[in-house]
Formats: sequence, structure tokens, C-alpha cells
Amino acid sequence: MNVIPYRREENAAPAGSRPAADARKLGAAQGAPPPRWLVAVGAGVLTATLAIGGFWSWNAGLFDGITSGEASRRAAAAALEERRAAHEAFTSVYSGQEHQSLEVGRGESLARILTRAGASPADAGAATTSVAAVFDPRRLRPGMPVNVYFHRDEGEAQLAGLAFRAEPGATVTVNRIATGAFTAREVIMPTRFEIAHVSGAVAESLYESALAGGATDGIISQMTEVFGYDVDFQRDVRPGDPFELVFGRRIDENGETVIAGELSYVSLTTRGQFREYYRFMAPGDRQPEWYDAQGRSARKFLMKTPINGARLSSGFGMRRHPIQGYNRMHRGTDFAARTGTPILAAGDGVIQRASWFGGYGNYVRIRHSSQYDTAYGHMSRFARGIRPGVRVRQGQVIGYVGSTGQSTGPHLHYEVFHRGRQINPMTLRVATGRNLEGEELAMFLQEKARIDRIREMRGQEEAAVEQEAIAGAAAPAARRM
Ligand SMILES: [Zn+2]
Repeated sequence: MNVIPYRREENAAPAGSRPAADARKLGAAQGAPPPRWLVAVGAGVLTATLAIGGFWSWNAGLFDGITSGEASRRAAAAALEERRAAHEAFTSVYSGQEHQSLEVGRGESLARILTRAGASPADAGAATTSVAAVFDPRRLRPGMPVNVYFHRDEGEAQLAGLAFRAEPGATVTVNRIATGAFTAREVIMPTRFEIAHVSGAVAESLYESALAGGATDGIISQMTEVFGYDVDFQRDVRPGDPFELVFGRRIDENGETVIAGELSYVSLTTRGQFREYYRFMAPGDRQPEWYDAQGRSARKFLMKTPINGARLSSGFGMRRHPIQGYNRMHRGTDFAARTGTPILAAGDGVIQRASWFGGYGNYVRIRHSSQYDTAYGHMSRFARGIRPGVRVRQGQVIGYVGSTGQSTGPHLHYEVFHRGRQINPMTLRVATGRNLEGEELAMFLQEKARIDRIREMRGQEEAAVEQEAIAGAAAPAARRM
């Protein structure tokens, strides 16, 4: 397992600033990937052998290159020394070059960017034509950085090449070759897999804090799915709430996320309640599920039948309305029961409404999470203490069956909302929300132990980094979170 310690500071650095020294130190300590040695053939100027270290890897492949197998076998310490020397050579060669970093403007073509940088229209056109062989220039988006290089010869700057990141993990480079024409190529960046660990406390928002820690939109959306059954992200999450994430990702030589993989662990404490879930695929399952430390499913299913001893009298879907007499959509499920039968909260949540609500009569609505609400109509009365803002537990009595509002007889009208829309309660995926037992549980506990080891290891590394930061007076970048 090639595990590279994850450091928050690296990814927290603003785009454009390359924590090169840090990255090298980190790489050297862990057995650095071999430097990429490039033989320059571009523009007739670059004859030095160049190493592309962390600092330059964004432009890897500019002025072409071939990888030498010899260099790749060097020891990490030697590689670091070489990289340093080569970097000096690189910069000295580059002193004959002029470099501009531009951002793509709104609606700006590549040719226009190049002329804006100072290229002649003929060169800009030729370079753009060569790019089209490997990348559709119309895919350039406003704000994308483009590096443009010029060779200054007797006072006149001539376009020597350009480079831009076409997509995560891929760079397009264009070089002027000896004939004066341009040649373009797409360079796929070397990436490596690592397991990232992010732990901290919510600052402004969970989203911002997780991003600052190196998570991606995709990882954060996986996280909200995991907690979809028990956390209301708008209301429950507060600044200072601790969270922790473990996920796989591929990073480039700068330590930046190229592709985020799967989340494998997540914890979050809201309103003083700690919750943690592990990703695990049980044998025979088609996709992984999330389980707490005891192997209980994260899917805290809302009860399909939030009432005991009742008979389903009308299902979800089109039906002829018994009172209004025309066909309409029935957006809930009716359970016939005697007046006074207790009605239970279908899941943990907060009472949103407990009052008369038109045809629903006495009505209770409970918010369970950011995604799920349930509602209960026609109650004869509310249970004691049931009013807006009150927290309820699954199975708690919230009211009693009645026939208030537009109702033909005592029954509970029950609705489940998913993302604000009524869904059929009978389709709630109860079957997959199971608790692990026996052999499955044993396998889960093994996987859990593996993830816990990663968390522990990373926690120690992060604590050491923190110690360093505290010890070094000149290190103001101590973790904020
Ligand atoms: Zn109904």
C-alpha cells in the first residue's frame, strides 16, 4: 500500500501558488516518485536536460520530452538533489524566454488570447490550428489559465509555445519546432492513489470546511447522502461541529486532487450527537451500503406503517375521491383504524407543524432530514407536547386517529415527502436497510478495523504536523479547524 500522508495545508493553498518546497519535502520523506526528465527539443533553444519537479509539473511536456528509465531508478534522496540542480538549469534556460500567464476571457478564442499575449496573428493562428489536433479550442472556459511562452530574439518576441490544463490530469502543450511550425500534444499527468483523511470542525459551513480540507463536490455530496436519513444540513449543522472524512483520490505531483474516489468513512457531530458510518459491500449486494460501528444500516427507514393494528384502506396513486367524486391523485396512504388509535412518528425528527390544515384536519408534519418529511392527517387530537420545534423519536406517539377535515371515517392519512415531493411510502427501500449479522458482520468488522487503522495513522501524522507548526515560531499556518 503506497500511502502518502495527506496534508491539509497543501490543498488549502490558493490556486496558482505551488507549495513546491513542501511537496518535495513530503515526497522525499516518503520515497518520491521519480522525477520526469525531459529532453528539450523545442524552439532550438532548450538543449538542457530538464527535470519537471512539483513546481513545474503543471507544464510537464512543454517543449516535448521523453522519460528516461535510468532516472526513474534513482534513490529518493539523489532524485531530490538532481531535481534541484535541474530546476536551476531549467530556470536559467528559461531566462531567455518570456512567460505570460493569462486567463481565458468570456467568449475569447484561443487565437485571441495569444494575440492578447503579444503573438503575431499568423503565429496565433498556426498555434491554434495545431491545438485543434488534440483539443477542441472551443472547450476552453472563461477563467482557465493559459501559459504563453515567447522567445526574444534581437528585440522581437516570437511565440515559442503555450500550455494549459485541458482537464484534470491532462495538459495540452504547443511548441514551435525547428521549421517554425507548431506542434501540439496532450500530456497525461502522472498521478498516484492516496487515501485522504480530513478531520476538523465546521467553520462557516460544512461544505466550505470540507472543501478547504481537500474534499471535492462529489465527496461532499456522497457525505450528504450518507446522512440523508438523520441530519438536516440546513438546521442541524453549526460552526464548531466536528467532522471527519476518509476517501480515496488520485493526486498529481502537486498533491492536488485529480479525481476523487469513493468515500469510505464519515463522521459528524450535530447538536452534541456523534454519528459515524463505514462504507461496506456485503457479499451478494450490488452496491456498498453505509453502516454504523455496530453494523447497523445508516438507512434509518421511515416506518411504512406509523400506526399499530391498522388496515391499509387506500394506497398511493389515482383514485376516485370519496367526497369530491372525481378522479384525483392520492398522494398518501390511508390506514383505517379506530378513533383514538395512537399515531407514531415514522422516524426521528423535528415537528414542523401541529395544527389544523384545511382538508387534512388536525395535521402534523415532521422533518426528518434534509431529504425526508412525513405528514399525518385527520387526527382527532395531538399528543401532549407535540408542537412546532419539538424533537421526536421514531415510534413516539404524536397524535391519535380521528376523522377531522375532509374525511369519510376514522383513518390516518400518511404522506412521505422526499425532497419536497410526496412519494409512495410503500416504496421506501426497507429491504436494503438491514443490520449485518453473522459472517457478514465479521467481514464488516474487518473492513471497519482497516478504515480505523487509516484514521488512527492519519490522526497521528496530522498531530505531528500540528506539533511542528506549533513548535516553529515562523509557521503561522497552523490548522485553523
Ligand atoms: Zn388519504
